[in-house]
Amino acid sequence: MISGAKGNGMKLAVVGAGAIGSATAAELAEGGAQVTLLEERALLQGTSGTSFAWINSNNKVPPAYYQLNLGGLRRHRAGLAAGRRSFHDVGHLEVALTEQHLALLAPKVERLRARGYQVQDVDAAQAVDHLPGIRAELVRAAVRYPEEGYCDVPTFVAEAHERLRAAGGGFRTAAVERLVPDAGGVEVFLGDGERLRFDAVVVATGRWTTQFLARSGFHVPVNEDDSVGAPAFGFLATTGPVAVQSPSVVSMTRVNFRPAGAGRYLLQGLDLDVEAHPSAPSAVRMRVGAELARRFADVLGMADAPEIEDVAVGIRPLPADGLTVAGFLDPARSVYVAVTHSGVTLAPELAALATREVLHDEPAAELAEFRPQRFDAGTAPSAGVRAARRPGEQ
Ligand SMILES: Cc1cc2nc3c(=O)[nH]c(=O)nc-3n(C[C@H](O)[C@H](O)[C@H](O)COP(=O)(O)OP(=O)(O)OC[C@H]3O[C@@H](n4cnc5c(N)ncnc54)[C@H](O)[C@@H]3O)c2cc1C
Repeated sequence: MISGAKGNGMKLAVVGAGAIGSATAAELAEGGAQVTLLEERALLQGTSGTSFAWINSNNKVPPAYYQLNLGGLRRHRAGLAAGRRSFHDVGHLEVALTEQHLALLAPKVERLRARGYQVQDVDAAQAVDHLPGIRAELVRAAVRYPEEGYCDVPTFVAEAHERLRAAGGGFRTAAVERLVPDAGGVEVFLGDGERLRFDAVVVATGRWTTQFLARSGFHVPVNEDDSVGAPAFGFLATTGPVAVQSPSVVSMTRVNFRPAGAGRYLLQGLDLDVEAHPSAPSAVRMRVGAELARRFADVLGMADAPEIEDVAVGIRPLPADGLTVAGFLDPARSVYVAVTHSGVTLAPELAALATREVLHDEPAAELAEFRPQRFDAGTAPSAGVRAARRPGEQ
């Protein structure tokens, strides 16, 4: 923002209280801004409430995107060291059960080691130590990523809201209709007709970003493919309580899983996502849930498949080229957007970088490749996004 206030005392709004908006509001308030977090739905009704929430920079190929996710992983770990409780420091065990997975694993591990990422080789006996019950005869190869883990997103959001409150920020349930930036800041029009005024606004509206920003005259293409099995859609099944002791995040060809609290596990099978769509009928969800339960029981040598309590379809906020979008949208630098897949991993990093850019007007080099202007007319990337179907993808 050129003509308004900068730094401490700036009056800011954040639109959207998912993982990204909540973390950003907290960080801005702790930086000294007067922050109001505006959210139109009940908490966690967006994507952050339906996420595998694996914290990693495991399969992020473009170097700048790898670095950004690494920053997120490190900030989750730093949060744990500072006494926060949302990050579960349990490591990730990747187990190759097939030739196809082996062929993918070797070059990925080589790339990660060359980048300095922590990767440990694990033999079949050690795999059993990390994952009691796994049928060792199935294991072709395994590696462990000791720094990775998963995030309990409701706790992450609650911690962010507590930080926001402690720093004097406010939360308000309100649908934001549109933003009108002008020379002195931004006029925020709420759905009920009320108008609010801020020095700058951070837009963290996840999968609703395209339609929300279009009402304010900005173009950021997110979630354009709504077909069955589109890259944005993914099933997540939750088991009932089971007598399995597997603290880690586990990824395999047939099933990924991680603890989901109170003896439950969250299951995912990327190949099954070809049928994923928010309107998937209950017969499809039940079939997918039963198949995931069968695969989980099979790899762990359980006599019976676990009960499935819920099969949800999550909707990733997926920018048109699959990569993070972060930066100012207007020349006056008063409307800022942050939308991305891997948003649970990235939330604390984007929060810190957005705070640097919005509050202190310091461009973050980490975000140089992720600016929204890459979608401006005539320069839109055409590569599109490939769906996550192969082991280790997400
Ligand atoms: C199946 C699946 C698996 C995933 N696995 C992982 C993973 O393993 N690791 C990882 O890091 N990420 C993962 N993700 C992605 C991650 O969950 C998302 O990137 C992240 O949750 C996005 O957070 P957000 O805050 O941007 O969006 P959201 O959580 O959707 O929050 C956006 C908020 O904006 C609000 N909003 C929208 N419009 C308005 C408006 N006009 N006015 C007021 N409020 C508004 C919405 O109500 C919503 O609460 C996964 C996603 C899916 C679907």
